[in-house]
Amino acid sequence: MDTYVPKEGQINYIDVSSQVSWDEYFMLEAMLASFKSKDPNTKVGCVFVDKHNHQVTMGYNGAIAGVDESKIPWGNDRSVSMEFQKYGYVMHAEANAISHSVKSLESTRVYVTLFPCNECAKLIASQRVSEIIYLSDKYRDTPEIRVSKKIFDLSGISYRQLKLKPDLIPRLSGYLSGMLDQV
Ligand SMILES: [Zn+2]
Repeated sequence: MDTYVPKEGQINYIDVSSQVSWDEYFMLEAMLASFKSKDPNTKVGCVFVDKHNHQVTMGYNGAIAGVDESKIPWGNDRSVSMEFQKYGYVMHAEANAISHSVKSLESTRVYVTLFPCNECAKLIASQRVSEIIYLSDKYRDTPEIRVSKKIFDLSGISYRQLKLKPDLIPRLSGYLSGMLDQV
């Protein structure tokens, strides 16, 4: 009787690779968080992650915790009194995530779907976050975002844009649909 002698490299070790990098994974998660926002105009999501790639907290732009979101105005018309603008009530994704985190955010990195505004930049820098990874920087030409970048530069916080590969969303979509087919 032949005794099976596995050859080197054949002992149940196979070539494996993840379908998604950590950068892609957490940006997708931030995008999913933004999907939960009820803001009709701007939906933003974020995820704070530690050096071990463990999620620490997440958030999206919405009302203050415990407030019925159907009871606040969601309009963005700045010509009316502030009590009738969303700006009087809505908390940004980063502020929400920071306010309900039960752990320190020191040395975490944050994935955000939109470059943080200067108010959130103050909070992020105060938490001593180490890196910002963002998807969109569409307000880059505004004083608000220039202030944000100055705050990050002065605090030694790095920031970089993540460009998702064009095939990522179709691949994910196909994968999720495939899961449903197996139900
Ligand atoms: Zn903000």
